[in-house]
Formats: sequence, structure tokens, C-alpha cells
Amino acid sequence: MILLSACLAGFNVRYNGTNAQNDLAKWLLLNGQAITMCPEILAGFSIPRASAEINGGTAADILNQVEKVRVLEENGRDVTSQFVHGVELGMKIVAENDIQVAFLKDGSPTCGVDKVYTGNFDGKKKDGMGVFAQSLQQQGIPVFSDQQLQVANVKPFITPTLTAKLEKQFC
Ligand code: SF4
Repeated sequence: MILLSACLAGFNVRYNGTNAQNDLAKWLLLNGQAITMCPEILAGFSIPRASAEINGGTAADILNQVEKVRVLEENGRDVTSQFVHGVELGMKIVAENDIQVAFLKDGSPTCGVDKVYTGNFDGKKKDGMGVFAQSLQQQGIPVFSDQQLQVANVKPFITPTLTAKLEKQFC
């Protein structure tokens, strides 16, 4: 089973109440090849909610409970424990659903795969992962960003009888 960031499948769960719909992600969900998840909603955050960034270090530091590395909202509110709680709940769902691969929305402090924001709320990104993506990777689950959500990358993980349908629609 494929795991998708819920916002990629079209659900309005982003901090500002929007989605980041990707047509291939939606196709995978509608054809029973994927489940979706928003760890921030699992953690109990509302829609909309304040944006948050990892400050002072990396997602791995957050998971390793390095004290000086925090997830902060722009007003300075420390939401580290909520983010970690969302990851823990998300990883339980991953374990129960035989997840083989994940395609996640890049740039997010939760789902980012290649890039995250700097932590300074300056609109700039740096190399790095979000805390959920980092946790998946540490569990040995391949993690791709939405930039890599392409037919060639999903084909190995779908039911073989759906391959022709997939290629007809997206190739
Ligand atoms: S936490 Fe992940 S699934 Fe939820 S809105 Fe952010 S990028 Fe999308």
C-alpha cells in the first residue's frame, strides 16, 4: 500500500485550509492503491492553524529529543510535543497498513522530504526533512516528495492489473 500526504490527494488540510492536489495522488486513492494521512490533523491541530517551522536543528534532532531544537509557530508557541504526537499516531497507522512507500508534500515541517523552511519564517527553504518523513525513513520505508510523484515511481507499488489503466491516463 502507498501512503500519501492527505493534502496531495485533494483534502483541504493544509495550515491555511487549502490542498496541494496532485492528479496522480488522487488517482491512486480513488483506485484503492493508497491511503492518506495528515499527521498534523492526527495531532489535533485545527484547520486553519498557524504555520510552523523546525528551529535550531533537524527533524532527526526533534525525534532524538534534542532539547534546543523545537517546532515553533511564528508567534513563538512551542508545538514540538504535538508534532511528535502526530508522528507517533501516524506511525501506528503505517504499521497497521503494510505501507511500502510514501509520497509526501515537500517543504512541510511534518511531511517535507527534500526541503523544509529555515525556521526563521523568512520564506526561504533549506535541505532537510519533516519529522514524519524522517520517522518513515528511519523505519526503512522509502520516502519520495511530491516532485517525484510520477508514473515510473508508483508503478512498482500498484496492483499489476491496474498498470495499463494508469499508463493510459498519465502517459
Ligand atoms: S502535515 Fe502533511 S498532509 Fe498535513 S497538510 Fe501538511 S503536508 Fe499536507
